[in-house]
Amino acid sequence: MAEKKVPPTTTDAGIPVSSDEHSLTIGPNGPIQLHDNYLIEQMANFNRERIAERQPHAKGGGAFGFFQVTHDVSKYTKAAVFQPGVKTDTLIRFSTVAGERGSPDTWRDPRGFALKFYTTEGNYDMVGNNTPVFFIRDPMKFQHFIRSQKRRADNNLRDNDMQWDFWTLSPESAHQVTWLMGDRGIPKNWRHMNGYSSHTYMWVNAKAEKFWVKYHFKTDQGIDFLTQQEADDLAGKDVDYHVRDLFDAIKRGDHPSWTLHMQIMPFAEAETYRYNPFDLTKVWPHGDYPLIPVGKLTLNRNPTDYHTEIEQAAFEPNNLVPGIGASPDKMLLGRMFAYADAHRARLGVNYKQIPVNSPKSPVHSYSKDGAMRVQNVSDPVYAPNSKGGPAADSERYPEVATWSADGDMVRSAYTLRKDDDDFGQPHTLINQVMDQASRDRLVSNVVGHLKNGVSKPVLERAFQYWRNIDKTIGDRIAKGVGG
Ligand code: NDP
Repeated sequence: MAEKKVPPTTTDAGIPVSSDEHSLTIGPNGPIQLHDNYLIEQMANFNRERIAERQPHAKGGGAFGFFQVTHDVSKYTKAAVFQPGVKTDTLIRFSTVAGERGSPDTWRDPRGFALKFYTTEGNYDMVGNNTPVFFIRDPMKFQHFIRSQKRRADNNLRDNDMQWDFWTLSPESAHQVTWLMGDRGIPKNWRHMNGYSSHTYMWVNAKAEKFWVKYHFKTDQGIDFLTQQEADDLAGKDVDYHVRDLFDAIKRGDHPSWTLHMQIMPFAEAETYRYNPFDLTKVWPHGDYPLIPVGKLTLNRNPTDYHTEIEQAAFEPNNLVPGIGASPDKMLLGRMFAYADAHRARLGVNYKQIPVNSPKSPVHSYSKDGAMRVQNVSDPVYAPNSKGGPAADSERYPEVATWSADGDMVRSAYTLRKDDDDFGQPHTLINQVMDQASRDRLVSNVVGHLKNGVSKPVLERAFQYWRNIDKTIGDRIAKGVGG
């Protein structure tokens, strides 16, 4: 058999080197030479390999695939990516929220479900989670929420007391905490969980008619979960259990898929709907807005370089293409600033030129220069100009994904609707969706969590928090903790 010929090692400048093993010294036993260019380059590169990890969602994995439209939803949106039969390349990144980059995949936590569609009209990102709701509804509280889930200042430890202190002082968290403490708080792996936009977005059709929408990516593998005990065991045995599962499945040709369904609300109904449809702590009950099928997302290609393709992948909810818009959800509006800002801080201002973040459609922007710009800029560098530079096409791309708002500037909670309260939907989840075995596991999970370092006054508030959701469950939790 002919031996496989490997290429000669070179420096980063492409210059062939003479040894992979020995530094340049004065005699075999003498001192190393500072002008050993290859040695110095390798040391310098190694010292700079790590970039800042994401804050939060630091631990994750991802894959490439495609989204194929199977049902005609063109009467709701003109977005090129959702037109009948269209197939679009995609990238997905799954993650946990609170843990650091090397933390166990099986910690109880929501999972990120971040998607990039490389559409013909620019990159469209749907930065979702595996839950349809969230802990808070105003971005003012987000930073504080995440700090309460991460590490203390003094001993740098995670702290259940901090978590319950924040949650019990934030009753809007009740729905998401119920979800988190239930079976879905630790998915078996990423293939066996759903993805939700959680936020409400806007869709606009070719006639400029508007709709409010929510995305539901339902796993075709079926929902499955780990018990607390199974997850604890796995955390000790294989911190990368979920990363490994996805990578191995795709490698063996077992390509996971999700079927996208939408909930669609006619624009005007938002005014009078019994819940505030933009409150991120609430779902729209399926009975009010049934799921409408759209298409299928399939993952079929692993990254070949985790760092450039997944660690440097930058998703941002403000990447919205024609036919898709934002909504008055305050959390969404906050995220539309925060994500791009995080990427600029972490990857630099030209992060969209990293190949995984670059659109596959043409870019004609007036952005210029900055650190690590690699794509050429050409004249003219300003608009308007009479030199043939790009010009906005307001007829073809009018600003239509809008809504009207007026009133005094205030700092205030949303105005309450008829059925808006913090405990009703989690009560329904426990009593009408979970079965007895799931309820028992919920109680056991909460009791285990509360028994681990939660102080007396916070415990008392936690019992009341659960009694507000459901009296029987609250009493069982208090009894289980011994309160
Ligand atoms: P439905 O009975 O129509 O829907 C209940 C949904 O709950 C199911 O479709 C499933 O969502 C999800 N579910 C099932 N088991 C669990 C579990 N152990 N933990 C969390 N979610 C689970 O009722 P409604 O639409 O009226 O909603 C009732 C409650 O269900 C809500 O208050 C909410 O807590 C929860 N829910 C609602 C969703 C919605 O968008 N309406 C989505 C998910 C949960 P799926 O099919 O997406 O897997």
